[in-house]
Amino acid sequence: MLTAKETLHYDVQLCVVGGGLAGLFAAVSAARHGARVLLMQDRPMLGGNASSEIRMWVRGSHGKENRETGLLQETELENIYRNPTMNYSIWDSVLYQLAREEKNLTLLLNTTCLGCEKDGDRIVSVTGWQLNSYTFHTVRAELFMDCSGDSILAELSGARYRVGREGRAEFDEYAAPETADACTMGSSCLIEARRTDHPCPFTPLEWAYVFPDDEIMYLKKHDVPESGINFWWIELGGEMDTLRDAQQINEELLRVAYGVWDHLKNRGDHGMENWELEWVGFLPGKRESRRCVGPYILNQRDLEEGHTFPDAVAFGGWTMDNHSPQGLRYMGYSSRHITPATPYQIPFRCLYSDNVPNLLFAGRNISATHMALSSTRVMATCAVMGQAAGTGAAVALRHGCLPAEVTARHMAELQQLLLEDGCFIPGHLRQQTGRVMAEIGEADRAILENGWERPHGAEANCVVLPGGGSLTLTLHGPVPVLRLALDPDFSRESISADSRYQKFAMRTHVDWPEARVSMPARLLKSCTVTAGDAVFRVENNRRALLLIPLPAEARQVVLSDLTAWGGGDVGLFGVDAAREAMHE
Ligand SMILES: Cc1cc2nc3c(=O)[nH]c(=O)nc-3n(C[C@H](O)[C@H](O)[C@H](O)COP(=O)(O)OP(=O)(O)OC[C@H]3O[C@@H](n4cnc5c(N)ncnc54)[C@H](O)[C@@H]3O)c2cc1C
Repeated sequence: MLTAKETLHYDVQLCVVGGGLAGLFAAVSAARHGARVLLMQDRPMLGGNASSEIRMWVRGSHGKENRETGLLQETELENIYRNPTMNYSIWDSVLYQLAREEKNLTLLLNTTCLGCEKDGDRIVSVTGWQLNSYTFHTVRAELFMDCSGDSILAELSGARYRVGREGRAEFDEYAAPETADACTMGSSCLIEARRTDHPCPFTPLEWAYVFPDDEIMYLKKHDVPESGINFWWIELGGEMDTLRDAQQINEELLRVAYGVWDHLKNRGDHGMENWELEWVGFLPGKRESRRCVGPYILNQRDLEEGHTFPDAVAFGGWTMDNHSPQGLRYMGYSSRHITPATPYQIPFRCLYSDNVPNLLFAGRNISATHMALSSTRVMATCAVMGQAAGTGAAVALRHGCLPAEVTARHMAELQQLLLEDGCFIPGHLRQQTGRVMAEIGEADRAILENGWERPHGAEANCVVLPGGGSLTLTLHGPVPVLRLALDPDFSRESISADSRYQKFAMRTHVDWPEARVSMPARLLKSCTVTAGDAVFRVENNRRALLLIPLPAEARQVVLSDLTAWGGGDVGLFGVDAAREAMHE
């Protein structure tokens, strides 16, 4: 038996396990608020189901005005800038760079969390095995966060968790089964294909399934040339244990994936003669496994009736997209959609454990019923929950308290920090400092000062400044950092004429050879800042939340030579003094 070379030790304030979008944004937000953070991720890359290993497209709340902002938006804009052809390997690098450049963040890739030490009811350390270096890593911390999707820390620490579907009566959820069971949504291996100008034969694999006709694909889109579908419906495992049976599910999915490709190429005319198999995901994406239990369990009624919570810190708005546990074998469309109130609130109490007091969580393993998870699981929602949980952890660390005390005593501070960092909490407005007044018409000034910072229903709620023009700001009191909420184009219509590129950050459909996006047209690219005696340039801005440090004595600021990425007008949602914003 090989023994580990050595065990490496770390002492941090927050240890996040799992580097999907939830874990990545949790770690980065806590680090930007000054916490010493370690992120442990078992794969060689970040992003989880959004990474090039799995390739699921990032979706979130319905409604253009409800688009997720904060760190996810910052990442998406950086991706549009660096990755105009929406290439997966560049997307991986954008996520990696976000973590790498964060000075308070230690990143441990290829490291699987498999152990945990407790003192009383609290976790004191976790241990991970780094596959490529044959090394154990032990991380001591004050707070821990489980963003593994699988709630690995719940299993290891004894934190309460649930698996499967609740019975209808427990939360009065009409779409739940009559009686509780252990069924979940399944896992999937995706397929990508490429159109060529020559025939591409495919030899069936002996171990793959044979699908001689369309029977099992009834109502499952596989008209690749027309739909460009990514085969999300190759789904299995919902009637098994998505954790303990994971390897068996994985191998079954590969037999199906290659069998589906054989079907498309060799069994019936699917117009696929000139198509080549580009990629099959050997690593399945998981939709559901364990859900941690917090002081509150979000449920179908909360989503459908749009319940409000005093501790709202995040939001969702994807339909309850509840897949049949039978997945592929379900003879029909394998998901039932139920529309929630959009956007709906997600409370902080769903993001920490009710019996392990220093354990938080975010992502698809939050405290929610199976029905609520069927909506909260989408990745943009996981991303905003991650940012909320990470910022909540930073608030707890600052006050030397536990997450539950943040709910009880520091909620207003947490909510304002999230709004300050550009996040959206439905029903909550960022409080203005009143220190910056734009010399502009009254109606426009009201927009810049209303704290909403996004379109409001049908209202654009945006001040449009002519390209090449200027904006004068009078400062009432010291403004160390000026905060501009710029227009990232919530509809994304200006980044491409193709609606698929507006929806998806990545080239997730097959056959998008011409994919090309450009930066949102009205996003400020550059300007000259004149603040007292100081004159300097903002160049090549990619952020919707632009923070400009000012000299201490400045009482007036002129932003001139305003230039948008599209070369025309610049859009502005808000202008104010930054209170406490995440540092650069
Ligand atoms: C086929 C499919 C289709 C989907 N469709 C959509 C869609 O259209 N749009 C959408 O937005 N969402 C979709 N989803 C849902 C979404 O992908 C997941 O709910 C989401 O990825 C959850 O994000 P997360 O960060 O919580 O977890 P994940 O993305 O699963 O990330 C968790 C990470 O933690 C790591 N990890 C696990 N265990 C450990 C451990 N012990 N130690 C260290 N690291 C660990 C994992 O490797 C993973 O990288 C789909 C999911 C699947 C599978």
